[in-house]
Amino acid sequence: MDQWNPLNPINVKADTASTYADVDVSDYIPSSDSRAGWFDCSAGADDITLNAYHMDGCNEPQKHAVMTHEFGHSLKPGHGPEIAVMDSCPACCNPNMSNDLQSWDISSYRSVRGY
Ligand SMILES: [Zn+2]
Repeated sequence: MDQWNPLNPINVKADTASTYADVDVSDYIPSSDSRAGWFDCSAGADDITLNAYHMDGCNEPQKHAVMTHEFGHSLKPGHGPEIAVMDSCPACCNPNMSNDLQSWDISSYRSVRGY
């Protein structure tokens, strides 16, 4: 979240005993699923699910990219061009993408947030 929080207006932080979680993060291990992680905004708290089968094989910058990407979905930006961290395949397939937010990611975030 250190990538997204400086953009404001949303400050994402861990929940406490007295707050309700808006996003839950959990692991699963289906080797047949090619995704390193995914975001689901169905009923209740949104979910970021990380595929431990693939994440265990990622280096730290790749893991960083996957988490930045999936938290990006929780803030509403959709998928972006190849260079963006919101590229449709974070960390796994695209050697051109950055592990950090790019101008497309920031513009998309600001556009969906209306500022
Ligand atoms: Zn995505």
